[in-house]
Amino acid sequence: MQKHARVVVVGGGCVGAGILYGLARRGWSDVALLERTQLTAGSTWHAAGLVPSYTRNFNVGRMIAKTIEIYEGLEADTSQNVGWHKCGQLRLANSRERLDEFTSYMSVAEAQGTRAELLSPGEARKLWPLLAHEKMLAALYNPDDGHIAPADVTQAMAKGARDRGAKIYLETEVKGFERTASGEWKITTNRGDITCEHVVCATGNYARQTGAMLGLEIPAIPIIHQYWITEAIPELVERKQWLTQEEFIEDWAVAQIMPGPNVVNLSLMIGGRHFGVPGALAALAGLLVVPLVLVLALAVLHARFADDPGVAGALRGMTAVCAGMIGAAGLRLAGALKKNTMPLSWCAGICAAGFVLVALLKYPLVWVLFGLGGLGCILTWRRLKT
Ligand SMILES: Cc1cc2nc3c(=O)[nH]c(=O)nc-3n(C[C@H](O)[C@H](O)[C@H](O)COP(=O)(O)OP(=O)(O)OC[C@H]3O[C@@H](n4cnc5c(N)ncnc54)[C@H](O)[C@@H]3O)c2cc1C
Repeated sequence: MQKHARVVVVGGGCVGAGILYGLARRGWSDVALLERTQLTAGSTWHAAGLVPSYTRNFNVGRMIAKTIEIYEGLEADTSQNVGWHKCGQLRLANSRERLDEFTSYMSVAEAQGTRAELLSPGEARKLWPLLAHEKMLAALYNPDDGHIAPADVTQAMAKGARDRGAKIYLETEVKGFERTASGEWKITTNRGDITCEHVVCATGNYARQTGAMLGLEIPAIPIIHQYWITEAIPELVERKQWLTQEEFIEDWAVAQIMPGPNVVNLSLMIGGRHFGVPGALAALAGLLVVPLVLVLALAVLHARFADDPGVAGALRGMTAVCAGMIGAAGLRLAGALKKNTMPLSWCAGICAAGFVLVALLKYPLVWVLFGLGGLGCILTWRRLKT
């Protein structure tokens, strides 16, 4: 571990990593962070990740607005996905007192520069149609609120700080602080001492212990915090309706390598994931019944009219349309490759190799799938590992 730094931040949660990142962005590169175990090992690991801007305190409001601004730019700055989803937040006023609170908050929000709107029950329901709004008087809407992945945001800020020269020391527990004759701080850790001009304590729930090392009594107490994890809620599953492109491609890729037709595998996987075995069977039946009836009807018609030149032409035309639709679906889904772990050039190379092997060299599809698919899996795994 280095012996000196301009600033030492103690604690590698979202606050410590955020401070390190903020300093490094302002050009303070001679900074170090000391973390007792691993980054995010404290309460950051448990946070639900909600980013709500509702507060009546002017400075806290400004801090939240700044936080949202930083989070929004993190992916572009660090190339790390932080799961930021700006979905807005509704707070419901079901009583006169709550409505008064929200009404008076509107001028606070304006002074803070926080966007906020007071909505009628009908307007709120337009934003969230599952809302039971019969007893509601109004709703406060903060459109810039959202949620983020707390561990990912911490790791991204740590990367942004490291990229600018900051150092992070893990498994490094601070045991004590001492003022030196020159006015600096000597910090004792299990891995030796480090001196610095400034110390920042960001030890979260350990703030009292860290404060005590400095002779301070920090008036902080942990507050009981709860969250619920529910089973899939049918109305929400129904509302969500469809997978994102990335989720679909992931599932599709798995369906490809499982034995059996893709559509059967996909329906079993998706139905099973949301509603267990009955869901898997219902999805399979639902997906197969209508196409099966159509295919059987077509088979009967084909047997009777196959020799008719009009029918033969129509079938050829339908084949061309199917091929076009498959190609178009492939092109549309190709956009999801941008977020793939592998660089776009590697993905394009694997696609091109697949085309050459199957379409030009006529290799059996199964070998190409296992060969190129296996190569893709290994390359992705290696990149995820690093
Ligand atoms: C269940 C739950 C849900 C939550 N949901 C939300 C939410 O939705 N939105 C929200 O904004 N907040 C939420 N929070 C609060 C949020 O998690 C905390 O405010 C935040 O994580 C605090 O970050 P921190 O960096 O200050 O502390 P921590 O994440 O606790 O980090 C402190 C770090 O300091 C290290 N440390 C301690 N002592 C030493 C030492 N002597 N030497 C070196 N390192 C040391 C610890 O190992 C730890 O890694 C939630 C919290 C919980 C528990």
